[in-house]
Amino acid sequence: MTDVTRKTILSGMRPTGKLHLGHWTGALENWVALQDAYSNFHLVADYHALTTNLDTSGLYQNTIDMVIDWLAGGIDPEKSPVFRQSQIKEHTELHLIFSMLITKNRLERNPSIKEQVRDLDIENIAYGHLGYPVLQAADILLYRGDLVPVGEDQLSHVEITREIARRFNATWGEVFPEPEPKLTKFARLPGLDGKDKKMSKSMNNTILLSDDTDTVWQKLRKAPTDVQKVRRNDPGRPEVCLVYTYHEKFNPSETEEIAEGCRSGELGCVDCKKRCAARIDSFLAPHREQRARYEARPDMVEEILQDGETRARRRAEETMHAVRDAMKLG
Ligand code: SF4
Repeated sequence: MTDVTRKTILSGMRPTGKLHLGHWTGALENWVALQDAYSNFHLVADYHALTTNLDTSGLYQNTIDMVIDWLAGGIDPEKSPVFRQSQIKEHTELHLIFSMLITKNRLERNPSIKEQVRDLDIENIAYGHLGYPVLQAADILLYRGDLVPVGEDQLSHVEITREIARRFNATWGEVFPEPEPKLTKFARLPGLDGKDKKMSKSMNNTILLSDDTDTVWQKLRKAPTDVQKVRRNDPGRPEVCLVYTYHEKFNPSETEEIAEGCRSGELGCVDCKKRCAARIDSFLAPHREQRARYEARPDMVEEILQDGETRARRRAEETMHAVRDAMKLG
């Protein structure tokens, strides 16, 4: 059951299919940690997916694959409703109202849009893409979210949500809280192609949460290491090595010993990678087991979504009732 005495957090992801380790360290780990202390709503942002890809043929399967990773990773759907944005019509209704409360210029100044359209002409960006922070504001405020878990780079979105909430309240009356960003570490796990690259499906540099033992090893064995450590006994620099970053995250109890072995030259990169792969694999093993359970029962996943949608819809309808009252829309 959703606990109304707790602060509300809305968090979501676009349905991109099976998740990778970057999703775990960047978001999912944090969602699981927060689910006992807050009232969480977990949104499958399927309308947001349309801002950059109009091909909807794989959307349903990508949703199911992602939700299975949420559940296998420890999201408890009893505590936190898990639901699809597209199934709660109030998202689009509130988005329309909010779109009257913000200017095109303001949206064009959004640093994330500037980043996303770096190579495009801003004049040719789709209306819905430019306005996606407005849909995001509707996502958050529909559930009267008090807090939004974000990394530093997403603070500008929360600011737009706060501006819209203020503008609505000043125009039609107090309905919405001004949600605060909840800054989390959101460790950006580097991708398999280098320490400075983000792990991302589009870059094809990921380890999936569902990868099996051999796949993890095959991916990790090709990962770049310190370029100065050419032969086994050459001294290396763990601080510049991608594999060492993975040890820090998934093998913290051995990092000191590994750093020493690397610096002295006693530890070779192949052995170091084998140890890293083994640790990542033991981290993933229970996830794979849980995943298999849900994959065998697609009806259970569908039921979890439908239950989450019923509960989310209840909250959304309450909010829209208050919105229409405040706006005297009858
Ligand atoms: S020994 Fe390990 S930490 Fe050192 S460079 Fe090789 S892979 Fe990286």
